[in-house]
Amino acid sequence: MTSDLTGALSDPSLRKLWDRLPRARLVGGVVRDLLIGRDVADIDLATPEPPDVVQHTLADAGIKVVPTGIGHGTVTAVIDGRPFEITTLRRDVETDGRHATVAWTSDWRADAARRDFTFNAMFCDREGVVFDYFGGREDLLAGRVRFVGDPDQRLAEDALRLLRYFRFLGRFGREEPDLLTLAAIKRAVPRLARLSVERVWSELSRILGGPRASEMSALMGRLGVLDALLPGERTQGRLERTVSCGAPADPVLRLGALTTASADVLGQRLRLARREVDRLNALRTLPPVTPTLGCDDRRRLLASFPPAAVVARSWLAQGDVVGAPDPEWDRLRGWILDCPVPMLPVAGRDVVAAGVAAGPAVGAVLQDVGARWRAGGCVADRRTCLVWIREAVAARPS
Ligand code: ATP
Ligand code: MG
Repeated sequence: MTSDLTGALSDPSLRKLWDRLPRARLVGGVVRDLLIGRDVADIDLATPEPPDVVQHTLADAGIKVVPTGIGHGTVTAVIDGRPFEITTLRRDVETDGRHATVAWTSDWRADAARRDFTFNAMFCDREGVVFDYFGGREDLLAGRVRFVGDPDQRLAEDALRLLRYFRFLGRFGREEPDLLTLAAIKRAVPRLARLSVERVWSELSRILGGPRASEMSALMGRLGVLDALLPGERTQGRLERTVSCGAPADPVLRLGALTTASADVLGQRLRLARREVDRLNALRTLPPVTPTLGCDDRRRLLASFPPAAVVARSWLAQGDVVGAPDPEWDRLRGWILDCPVPMLPVAGRDVVAAGVAAGPAVGAVLQDVGARWRAGGCVADRRTCLVWIREAVAARPS
């Protein structure tokens, strides 16, 4: 979708939806992002019709509807292959710190009032009229992240908002954060224990992978948020240097920079995906990858670890160095990425061809030859390795 409001309003798929649900309005992130000309990822709409009416109306028009969150009044319409999330206007009747019991309403303001931040609580109808009940546009333009209503109450209703606050502060905040809001956040920290671990990492990874990640991490550290979430010793300075020397906005790399905890401990605590634990593990296992590392050592690392892991380790190593960024580090990473991945140019069948019967002895010979190849910096060619196989075979006790 385009990033300007007029373009968005004439979007053909959205028009098809509006033909059927003329009262629906864009809501939340899409309105916020369009107002400041940012690209819009997913499109959410709110509408006064109850979910079953939304479902039937769209289905009758031949539009595919998936009841993605029907209990909370959300269905997803798929038009021209694109998803549109449509949620019936609702108000929260009761909250338990994370989940709300909801009731449908036709009151737009009540729906806006249950949303988290003023700039996430705006609607825009099909004519382009923006409905902004809480001064969201002004806050957005000022770079101010403000809860709708009283921060203590809003955080008590749903502790996830505490993490969402930092996500949006990193992304849109330009003013100094409001001290009363920060005090409420600090008071709400114990509530984080009620969140599911998956939600914690899904938010934290967006904060770490988002803009101003090290500032957000420093602030969360000061308020006690990170103590509640992360194991290990925190290395805020390393995160700051890693980010400022240009490391990619990679949440796993930044998590590895921010704490000394092992991959397994982090994996368990944040219930990370297997491949995230593997990546952290490589960061912890690899020796420091620095520009002083000789070419033989670099190739040895590349023979055992994926180039991306070696590069990631170099970012962390650079983050350990205090001082002005040195271009040698980027040259090091360029070298690593340009280097063909070294692979032992012989295999088990070559050992068998040299007269060793298939079995454990083949592996043992291959291991000897591999060790010799690595000791030489992983440069010996196939011919040399075949000679080494013959030598290893001859040296074996018969
Ligand atoms: P993004 O661009 O990151 O998707 P978004 O504002 O669209 O940002 P979503 O998580 O997609 O964020 O949520 C959509 C909208 O739902 C928000 O703009 C907000 O109005 C509301 N919302 C989401 N989560 C909460 C919450 N925990 N408490 C209150 N309102 C929420
Ligand atoms: Mg969204």
